[in-house]
Amino acid sequence: LSLLVVGTVAFDAIETPFGKTDKITGGAANYICWAASNFSNDISLIAVVGDDFPQSEIAELRNRGVSTDGLQIKEGEKSFFWSGKYHMNMNSRDTLVTELNVLADFDPIIPAHQKNPEFVMLGNLTPSVQLRVLEQLESKPKLVAMDTMNFWIGDENFKKDLDVVISQTDILIINDEEARMLADHHSLVKAARQIMEQGPKYLVIKKGEHGALLFHENHVFFAPALPLEEVFDPTGAGDTFAGGFMGYLAKTGDISFNNMKRAIIYGSAMASFCVEKFGNQRLKELSINDIDQRIQEFVNLVQFDIELTQ
Ligand code: AMP
Repeated sequence: LSLLVVGTVAFDAIETPFGKTDKITGGAANYICWAASNFSNDISLIAVVGDDFPQSEIAELRNRGVSTDGLQIKEGEKSFFWSGKYHMNMNSRDTLVTELNVLADFDPIIPAHQKNPEFVMLGNLTPSVQLRVLEQLESKPKLVAMDTMNFWIGDENFKKDLDVVISQTDILIINDEEARMLADHHSLVKAARQIMEQGPKYLVIKKGEHGALLFHENHVFFAPALPLEEVFDPTGAGDTFAGGFMGYLAKTGDISFNNMKRAIIYGSAMASFCVEKFGNQRLKELSINDIDQRIQEFVNLVQFDIELTQ
């Protein structure tokens, strides 16, 4: 198996300064799979939903080459539900509601034929569930990436498990607010150093419309976000970034720092599409040509010739 993904598959209700949705489908793993499936068709999704989750959404993922053998559907139960409201700047938001529902007692079970993935993406969900996934693997993956969120970082009940998963992760992919919260440093460089001392050899810090930083030892790489005329809905942008990043690594099989720089650009490109419409709507329309064109826009954005003064 090329890429194993665990995370939430959910209903979201989103409010931005430009509009509002009723319950739409979302969830970290959902966005990750949509983004990654542009690069690999050997992906397996480990998640849980209730019987309220539309079968058609699951079928669409399967059509993209995502195996749903590890997706549990709980009869008579409700899917995870999250609701959030964005501030005027669209970079920050308040969580209005988090209903764990089926997530509360989720026991992930990896199908026997999927226990040897090359790449693992531990999407945002309960840290103990992320750990349970790692425990079931039969061989050491090439790369384990993980995401988490203030909901888990700020709660003492989850902190112990969270620290253990982080220590077993190769690359942590989080946003600036989460990095500051985890390390208790305002300086992202200091926070990065402290987080990498906890285990991860690599760290990506996403900064929304201000791009993303990749840290490794004493190296730092910066990828911009594409300046877009309109950001419609940032929900899932972080997960879409992680999906593009891991999908590209899974496709190329190369985990050198240089290739991670390319993967960050692919992740940023995928995230730039995600925010153009509500939910994962825009991701569903994309062709490989659209992605290539956008990668070219990133190249144009940062390419310049320069001479030193001496
Ligand atoms: P992002 O905008 O990339 O941070 O991800 C938004 C997605 O995360 C939404 O689709 C939510 O369903 C999901 N989500 C929100 N809160 C949580 C949580 N505490 N644990 C796991 N997933 C969550």
